[in-house]
Amino acid sequence: MESQVEHVRHLQCTTCGAVVEESHAALTCPFCASEGILDVIYDYEAIARRVSRDCFAASGENSMWRYVPFLPVDPAWEKPPLRVGWTPLHDARRLARALGARTVFVKDEGVNPTASLKDRASAIAAVRAKAAGRRIVACASTGNAASSLAGCAASMGLRSCIFVPRRAPRGKLMQLLIYGATVVSVDGSYHDAFSLSAAAIEKWGWYNRNAAINPYLVEGKKTVSFEICEQLGWQVPDWVVVSVGDGCTIAGVYKGFYDFFRTGLITRIPRILGVQATGCQPLVEAFRSGERFRPSPENTIADSIAVGVPRNPTKALNAVRRSGGDMIAVPDEEILRAMRLLGSTTGVFSEPAGAASLAGLATALESGTIGREETVVVIATGNGLKDIANAERAAPPPIEVGPSIEDLRQMLEARAQDLLAQGE
Ligand SMILES: *Cc1c(COP(=O)(O)O)cnc(C)c1O
Ligand SMILES: [Zn+2]
Repeated sequence: MESQVEHVRHLQCTTCGAVVEESHAALTCPFCASEGILDVIYDYEAIARRVSRDCFAASGENSMWRYVPFLPVDPAWEKPPLRVGWTPLHDARRLARALGARTVFVKDEGVNPTASLKDRASAIAAVRAKAAGRRIVACASTGNAASSLAGCAASMGLRSCIFVPRRAPRGKLMQLLIYGATVVSVDGSYHDAFSLSAAAIEKWGWYNRNAAINPYLVEGKKTVSFEICEQLGWQVPDWVVVSVGDGCTIAGVYKGFYDFFRTGLITRIPRILGVQATGCQPLVEAFRSGERFRPSPENTIADSIAVGVPRNPTKALNAVRRSGGDMIAVPDEEILRAMRLLGSTTGVFSEPAGAASLAGLATALESGTIGREETVVVIATGNGLKDIANAERAAPPPIEVGPSIEDLRQMLEARAQDLLAQGE
């Protein structure tokens, strides 16, 4: 089958700059060893002629497919029936007040079909695998990339084989099993799971959904930025804050704004703040030092960003630098606090990696990196129900009473006095 998408010019290596023809086969640079991550280069002039600020809503698609003119996907290819993208952007006024900031928006990616932003990438993987006539898709993941691939694959009748490190939270693991994936739990780190998956994919010829290796996945993730632009009425925010593991998500966030900038739909690109956990911050350190990252231990509760050997360092660091942004690390206690702050002020329940962005915003406001008058979008990348064990650490225990109103009154007086004031 003809694999080329009309508005894609070619692929380009982010390491050596080589130009590679677009096809279903080429995923990494043939001239570099394992680190030749490719970038999808578009024919922006052709796209600009076809798009306008109004064309997306006019498409009638309330999903990521409203942006198909910017995606490495032929409009005629089969799409998953699951509704991916077009997630809400909340004007979070109580949260902003609590932070001492003027304007904070929360992009709730937890409402995607498998409950994380990863669906935007996995949908592209499933569409391209199907278009290429492949039947089996595979990846290694700390959880969300896997559960979203398994869900998107199931919705399109594809088989999936998933490699997970032992520490993957049970919620994510259960999603995989319910979606019918074959799950290989690797006794080792994410790095070990990744290496084993790469060997198996090579050996048996499965479709490779590993995010850094497969250049098309970042292209799906960029739709989150397209939505932010539209949902803010084309008023570009000053900052977008997002957590960073492999670096594909932040690369996608940048690429979305870049695409809209290149085609004249917006006139500037927001600054991007990348947030890692203190216990695993190889990209924060690389950003600060200007040197290549050094592999790090994976000491954080935020499993989705516990990536000691990031797979997409170049695209990630380029995204931060080209946007004039910054990177910071936050300790786990701040992440747990942010989970509770987010939930209690907005009703958005986020997993630790999703709330790390909010913890980063709080820190950046304190340090003055982000001004209190600036407009900020925080991306909550995944739903908190995926990881109940850590939610328990973030939240206070429930009030336990016998079935007695006097008991209850005493306990409320001790722990929730504000509830009593009203009746008096
Ligand atoms: C994958 C993921 C991230 C980080 O994305 P990377 O591409 O690995 O940097 C952040 N939050 C959640 C919930 C994720 O699943
Ligand atoms: Zn190369």
